[in-house]
Amino acid sequence: MNEPISSTAAPVLRLIEEFYKLPGIGPKSAQRLAYYLLRMPPSEARALAEAIVEVKEKVTFCGVCQNVTEVDPCRICSSDYRDRSMICVVEEPLDILALERTQAYRGLYHVLHGAISPMDGIGPEDLKIESLLNRLRGGEVQELILATNPNLEGEATAMYLGRLLSPIGLKVTRLARGLPVGGDLEYADDVTLSRALEGRQEMQA
Ligand SMILES: [Zn+2]
Repeated sequence: MNEPISSTAAPVLRLIEEFYKLPGIGPKSAQRLAYYLLRMPPSEARALAEAIVEVKEKVTFCGVCQNVTEVDPCRICSSDYRDRSMICVVEEPLDILALERTQAYRGLYHVLHGAISPMDGIGPEDLKIESLLNRLRGGEVQELILATNPNLEGEATAMYLGRLLSPIGLKVTRLARGLPVGGDLEYADDVTLSRALEGRQEMQA
């Protein structure tokens, strides 16, 4: 930190340190955010603090699909209007929002909470794969759509799952090409995403 430490009040230093722990925030940005908050009207700062507390107190993960939810099981898992023969596997909860926006999918979801990435030390055991396998044991699910991101990690994850699941005798499909390569599913536009979903292809084991 460039700021002379002794001249900075302890609560400000603490705030800078907390911001610095966030992903994508370097020391400079942490300082900037802290001083921005310092100048904020008290009501706005309080609203931000309350939103953080609320998200930790009220939001949890669905015990079935691992999506973020206020009720467990989540609204999608407990809905009578969803097609229970299909599960769409995604990396992050935000991907579900993107797919729901298209209104092209009526099945269920499963959130892995990441993707296989040897560079970052993330292996299959770090993802929510065990709970996915448990869901397949009932025999109700007939198709699994692998909607991991169209980048290196997403492809590696899809390949791994394809191989793992092929002995089960389940139809395993992958979103069609055409999504921006290297990008994230959540940034794909609705039309592209709907097409990728419609044009999904069976994985070769
Ligand atoms: Zn759920």
